[in-house]
Amino acid sequence: MEYKEFAVGEYSLQLSEDQLGIAQWVHHFAENVVRPAAEEWDEREETPWPIIQEAAKIGLYSFDFVANGYADKTGLTLALVNEELSWGDAGIALAIFGSSLAVAGIFANGTDEQIAEWIPQCFGSQDKPHLAAFAVSEPDAGSDVSSLRTSAVYSPKDDTWTLNGRKTWITNGGIADVHVIVASVDPSLGARGQASFVVGPGNPGLSMGQKFKKLGIRASHTAEVVLDDCKIPGNALLGGKEALDERLARAREGKRSQSQAALATFEASRPMVGAQALGIARAAYEYSLEYAKERVQFGRPIIENQAIAFKLADMATSIDAARLLVHRAAWMAANKVPFASAEGSMSKLFAGETAVRVTEEAIQILGGYGYVRDYPVQRWYRDAKIYTIFEGTSEIQRLIISRAISKVHIR
Ligand SMILES: Cc1cc2nc3c(=O)[nH]c(=O)nc-3n(C[C@H](O)[C@H](O)[C@H](O)COP(=O)(O)OP(=O)(O)OC[C@H]3O[C@@H](n4cnc5c(N)ncnc54)[C@H](O)[C@@H]3O)c2cc1C
Repeated sequence: MEYKEFAVGEYSLQLSEDQLGIAQWVHHFAENVVRPAAEEWDEREETPWPIIQEAAKIGLYSFDFVANGYADKTGLTLALVNEELSWGDAGIALAIFGSSLAVAGIFANGTDEQIAEWIPQCFGSQDKPHLAAFAVSEPDAGSDVSSLRTSAVYSPKDDTWTLNGRKTWITNGGIADVHVIVASVDPSLGARGQASFVVGPGNPGLSMGQKFKKLGIRASHTAEVVLDDCKIPGNALLGGKEALDERLARAREGKRSQSQAALATFEASRPMVGAQALGIARAAYEYSLEYAKERVQFGRPIIENQAIAFKLADMATSIDAARLLVHRAAWMAANKVPFASAEGSMSKLFAGETAVRVTEEAIQILGGYGYVRDYPVQRWYRDAKIYTIFEGTSEIQRLIISRAISKVHIR
């Protein structure tokens, strides 16, 4: 292991007063507004607008709040916020913070002017919150982002781009005010021939296709996005035409390039996705711990059996391990320390798998009560599963990690 000079002398795992204050404030909202509404919106399988509005009203869903989060140079504030909100309910949390992938996409690929123009529009105002969507996946391009077919064609005559294609599984797809679309400018270059484009509200070339019914995170809207001769101005290309032309020229010469539109976004957001998974795991762990102390069988609380208590010990240990990985990756991302061993992927992989394991064990601890919909544990189990699938499946995270640590092109 290499130690570099960024390992500073003072080391502390103590959260600052500001971080604790924000975490407690979000926890209060999660406990009093989100958790009580979770069952209703899971059943309705619709975007929980009243809760999003409430979050916007108190300033939790706002440009300023996220900008302040990004300003925390430890990177931990947004990780804490994601964990707390998902502790309340992951579906509603994703409905509130689903926009953040588009925000990260604009932030990672946009110019300063584009960041200033589009990121506030992703949030809208307190009275009229907006949503944003980040669309990469297609029916035939899921894990293999390099094979996406949505095309972007430039017309120098009127300085416009025209997008055509079909995106699938898109969070907030078709209902968002701002869509960030990853499209291919030069399919022969695979992922290196792709770029991100912003489609603003009311564009007639963008529409919603099928809305999906899901196993979990059902308060979060997931749908197809259809792009049919969708015309956008030249300046909707994130990063600008000059930078794209340079990047494409380098790719054609076979030189390495720093940024690939979709991958840059996913890399930056992985610790936050891990933090959301952590929130679900913690909810299930806390609930089953209390239950195990109260449920009596054979004349004693079930927690007095090692078979149950050891499950809880393992659950607590993996949750803490996942949090340490998430916080490390969040700190690295905020301090621009390269993920040399794919630490972002490690955090998402471990937290996602922890959430699935912990929620399954929670059902086991509750027995039959865990399996019925009167109790929330089954919902956490259903919600947790997406964290081994979206934003890079667990297999893809292992691929990224194994390549990073071995420098071998593992398939
Ligand atoms: C609820 C939900 C929300 C989503 N939100 C968004 C969104 O907002 N924006 C967006 O762009 N996408 C979104 N997605 C899409 C998501 O990112 C993809 O589903 C995911 O990347 C996997 O792609 P796939 O479903 O096509 O599976 P596939 O790529 O077909 O994978 C199928 C299986 O094969 C495995 N596999 C594939 N390739 C390899 C390999 N090389 N080595 C080992 N195993 C492999 C996978 O791990 C998986 O187990 C969302 C999906 C869901 C379900």
